[in-house]
Amino acid sequence: MKKLAILGSTGSIGVSTLDIVAAHPDKFQVVALTGGSNLELLKKQIEEFAPQLVAVMNEELAQKLAQMLPGKGPEIVHGVAGMIAAATAADADMVVAAIVGAAGLVPTAAAIKAGKDIALANKETLVTAGRLIMDMVKIHGVRLYPVDSEHSAVFQSLEGHRKDDVKRIILTASGGPFFSYPAEKMAEVSVSDALNHPNWSMGQKITIDSATMMNKGLEVIEARWLFDIPVERISVTIHPQSIIHSMVEYVDGCVMAQMGIPDMKAPIAYALTYPGRVPTGVKPLDLTALSGLTFFNPDFNRFPALKLAYRALNDGESMPTVMNAANEVAVGAFLNGEITFTAIADSIEKTMGFHQPHNLNSIEEVLSVDRWGRKKCRELLGINNP
Ligand code: NAD
Ligand code: MG
Repeated sequence: MKKLAILGSTGSIGVSTLDIVAAHPDKFQVVALTGGSNLELLKKQIEEFAPQLVAVMNEELAQKLAQMLPGKGPEIVHGVAGMIAAATAADADMVVAAIVGAAGLVPTAAAIKAGKDIALANKETLVTAGRLIMDMVKIHGVRLYPVDSEHSAVFQSLEGHRKDDVKRIILTASGGPFFSYPAEKMAEVSVSDALNHPNWSMGQKITIDSATMMNKGLEVIEARWLFDIPVERISVTIHPQSIIHSMVEYVDGCVMAQMGIPDMKAPIAYALTYPGRVPTGVKPLDLTALSGLTFFNPDFNRFPALKLAYRALNDGESMPTVMNAANEVAVGAFLNGEITFTAIADSIEKTMGFHQPHNLNSIEEVLSVDRWGRKKCRELLGINNP
């Protein structure tokens, strides 16, 4: 019986994780949940999974939730301290890090320090503080399992092989909804066009990241730290069908790929049950039903965000932190209808232009650079909201 703390249980990854838990009650028990503001869903999850501890964003939400739960419910905590309490819950064997954005960093870091194994969906944690997090993973002797489908594919394609024999990691990308849009149409795309992902159903932020291809940029940085591989040996290929989830090329010319129907339940389950596997309800892959698998080089001109991510890694340790912070602000502004789609990458690039990269020595320093990046990007965009 594996005891889980699920951070971000009301999100897309959180809900899929709980689907797996519900299908395997003999294997998993939920000890802690955290949610943002969707109290109705959180209430349902509490009733179904009976966690001991639940964290929400603030005190007001905590009081509301307590009123919604008659009788003896779980202990309810709130704010960053509450997220940390859930991430370090004494009973938990594994923490599923599925909060979106850099908000996931502090709870995930706390879980690592508390000796918890991590199933990591929250890629921004590695983008913003990759080296520090991987150092902490080593120091505290925990395992960090990727949930991101590409990284799960790489992880699976590395199993049983020698790291020294790896030539290249090839991350696949669907290309998103604007894969074949001409450059001049990109400035005009609407929020609903950008939220209409062809293959995956996900939270809003990552869906916009997929449309700009910043998501693939974040994943390049995630792979750099997760697999300790220089960025020059990580490449991206567009694969619109999302059947091959990523690949590892070896020095002898052999390429290992992991395939399947695009459904996050598969990589989530593998992170939870590694090295074992369990049925997930993911539809079987019928190769004969596919019309073909195609691959293209990414177009860095139409998708400048991907180029920015490579640049940020080369610029120095604090630059990905700034890039990630600016991206979160810009994506929020786009979703609010305040800026155009192409202004997302533009404003990130401008924000990066104001930053002198340096090494990062602590999580506190990461948070301070993150705050600076958000403030600068907001200032450049002339907006006030977070
Ligand atoms: P989502 O928006 O659906 O859910 C996010 C969760 O985090 C929710 O429970 C929300 O309440 C909570 N949350 C948001 N802001 C918070 C804050 N400031 N403090 C505490 N909790 C907060 O997002 P998602 O699509 O499930 O993605 C979660 C993470 O997983 C992201 O980092 C994303 O990049 C990564 N990921 C998602 C997918 C996917 O298919 N959805 C795939 C790969 C990786
Ligand atoms: Mg991914």
